Amino acid sequence: MQRQLCERLRDDLDELSSRNLLKVEREIASPQSAHIQLRGLGGRSVLNMCANNYLGLANHQSLVQAARAGLERHGFGMSSVRFICGTHHIHRALEKRLTDYLRTDDTILFGSCFDANAGLFEALLDANDAVISDSLNHASIIDGIRLCKAKRFRYANNDMDQLERALREARQCRTVLVVTDGVFSMDGIAANLPGICDLAKRHGALVMVDDSHAVGFIGPQGRGTPARNGLEHQVDIVTGTLGKALGGASGGYVSGRGEIIAWLRQRARPYLFSNSLMPALCEASLTAIELAEHADDLRENLAARTRQLRQGLSNLGFQLSGVDHPIVPVITGDAAIAVQISDFLLALDILVVPFSYPVVPEGAARIRMQVSAAHSAQDIERVIGAFQLAQSKGRSAPTFSRHMG
Ligand SMILES: *Cc1c(COP(=O)(O)O)cnc(C)c1O
Repeated sequence: MQRQLCERLRDDLDELSSRNLLKVEREIASPQSAHIQLRGLGGRSVLNMCANNYLGLANHQSLVQAARAGLERHGFGMSSVRFICGTHHIHRALEKRLTDYLRTDDTILFGSCFDANAGLFEALLDANDAVISDSLNHASIIDGIRLCKAKRFRYANNDMDQLERALREARQCRTVLVVTDGVFSMDGIAANLPGICDLAKRHGALVMVDDSHAVGFIGPQGRGTPARNGLEHQVDIVTGTLGKALGGASGGYVSGRGEIIAWLRQRARPYLFSNSLMPALCEASLTAIELAEHADDLRENLAARTRQLRQGLSNLGFQLSGVDHPIVPVITGDAAIAVQISDFLLALDILVVPFSYPVVPEGAARIRMQVSAAHSAQDIERVIGAFQLAQSKGRSAPTFSRHMG
C-alpha cells in the first residue's frame, strides 16, 4: 500500500515537473525586506516584488526590539491552548488593542487567519443557516465553509445581482451570512462593500469581511476596507492576519460583536485545540499596530509607488488587474509566458512569482507583484525597465508571446 501511494505521488510530481508547474521554494538568506539575499544565486541581492510586506514592517527595528523585550519579559512559549493555561495577559492586551484599532466590540486571536476562517463558520452556523460566498474568496474561507453544515450559496466575484438572488433563495434560513475578502488576493480587486452591506441590510443578513490584504494600509489609519467605506458598523465580523502588513510574522484574529467572539472562545475548534500565540509575537504585534495606526507617511509612499508601477506598466501596454491596490497582477494569459518573464526578471535580479491554474482560472496566468512602502522610486523604475526589456525581447523571439503588451 505504502509503496503504491509513493509511486503514485512520484508520478504526479514528475507530471507537474514536466509541465513546469512544480513550486520551487527559493531560500532567503537575509531578513525579509524590499531587497533580499537568495541562497543558491551566489548570495545575490535581489529586488523583492512578491512579499505581503505592504508597510515594510517585516524587519522594522522597533518590532525586532519589541519581540526581544517580549522574550526577556514573557519567556519563549506557552505550552498550552488558551483555555487550559495558555492565556497570557499579553494575549488579552493584543485582543483589546485590535478591538480599539478596528472599532469593534471584541477580538479573538488564532494561530493564523487560516485557522480563524477554518473555525468561524462551523461554530456559528448549522443546517438551519446559510452562508453566501464570493467566488474569489480565499481558500481558508472555502475550507471553513466546507466544515459547516449551513446551506451554501456562491456568487460570481462582486456580482450584486447574483448575491441578491442568493439572498432571496436563502430567505427562509435562520441566519444568513454574506462572506467576502476585503481585497481579492490574486486580482488586487476590492470587494464592493457598499453594495454588499446594502443588500445584506435589506435582506436581514450578516456580513463578514476577511481583510487580510487590507488591514494596516487601506483606509484611515489603515483600519481596513470597512473603515475606507465608512461601513465599520455594518460589517458584523472581520477576520485578518498579523502575517502580512502588520509585521508579517504570524497570527490571525476574528473581531466583531461581543456575543460572536464570546461564542467562538467556547466553540471554535482551532482556538480550542491549537496552541496559543507566542507572547513575544504579541508584544511585537502591539508595536506593529501602533506603527501602522500612525503610518500615513508609509501609506503615502505605498500609494505613490503603486501608482508609479501601475502607470508605467499600463503605458507599456501590459494588461493589469485591479485599480489602486499594491497587489499588481500582470495578466499574461499563458502560463509558460508568465514563467518566462519571471525567469527573465530574476536574471535581472528582480524576484516576481508567476501564478497559473489551479491558483487562478485556466488561461488567466499572471505575474503577481506586490508593492511595499519600503520600495523606492528607483526600485519601481527598475521593474518597469525590466518589463520593457522583456517586451522588446518578446517581439524579436518567438518563445515570448506577441500578446505580452
Ligand atoms: C493570507 C490570507 C489568509 C491567511 O492568513 P494566515 O494568517 O497566513 O493564515 C486568509 N485570508 C486571506 C484573504 C488571506 O489573504
